[in-house]
Amino acid sequence: MTATKWELITNEVDRAWMERTPFGYPCVACGEWLATEADFAKHFEIPDPAYKNTGNCPKSKRK
Ligand SMILES: [Zn+2]
Repeated sequence: MTATKWELITNEVDRAWMERTPFGYPCVACGEWLATEADFAKHFEIPDPAYKNTGNCPKSKRK
């Protein structure tokens, strides 16, 4: 089972920062608009918690 980056980051300060930090790009895989860092973190699933920046778009995952 995979978690999203948001689920891995439980620190309230980090979460508050992400909520108010604009991201402003669509997901490159599915095109969903990601307005903030929090949206970004909630969108991607992290296959290995040791590498929080290697998320996969759950909507593009085909194996
Ligand atoms: Zn996506």
